[in-house]
Amino acid sequence: MLKIVKNKVFLCKKECKITKISVKTTFSSRIFLLKKLIFNEKYRLNVVFSHISYLISRITAIFAEKAKIVVKNYPLYSHEYFMAKALDLAIQAGEAGEIPVGAVVVAGGSKIIGKGSNQTEQLNDVTAHAEIIAITAATQFLGAKYLKDCTLYVTLEPCVMCAGALHWSQIDRIVFGASDTKRGFSRVSPPILHPKTSVVKGILETDCEMLLKNFFKGLRT
Ligand SMILES: [Zn+2]
Repeated sequence: MLKIVKNKVFLCKKECKITKISVKTTFSSRIFLLKKLIFNEKYRLNVVFSHISYLISRITAIFAEKAKIVVKNYPLYSHEYFMAKALDLAIQAGEAGEIPVGAVVVAGGSKIIGKGSNQTEQLNDVTAHAEIIAITAATQFLGAKYLKDCTLYVTLEPCVMCAGALHWSQIDRIVFGASDTKRGFSRVSPPILHPKTSVVKGILETDCEMLLKNFFKGLRT
């Protein structure tokens, strides 16, 4: 019998001997299971079909999510316009098996100077959050450590670590989509952001939340 617990796959043999196999995503784990079922394990048609139907549903969902965001025409340089760019990066992260969070840093209200997406799995680095990567890219672009006249757009409310980094960057404004009631910086009191940093929340909130919910729903399936 084959079981998925979080992002690990367990092959439970007849004697209940369990072999743990690390896999990065539910998506890739399904492909792995299919290969295992077809080539190594006893062939069971109904199980094979269930994995195939799951893969088809995930591919359909990914394209549907992407299409939904791409077809929308938001006013140029609006909050929604830049949040859609961050969402696109989040979708790409989800496709790579990462928790789908994306971020862009915009200078002067019109130019994207830094992009980032969550890469904690690919880099084996718990600090590789979208915001940190976007901040680093932006400061390298500017050749300066402070993000003056800049706005960070991120699909999920920054965590305490990222809020700390944003404090040091002295960024002018943070715009986020979905709120993070468990790990978001706004849970911390007093606020840890720089005094001059303003915050806008709830931009494309439904799209940002849906992307995360679908991702975690896929992990549990
Ligand atoms: Zn973070």
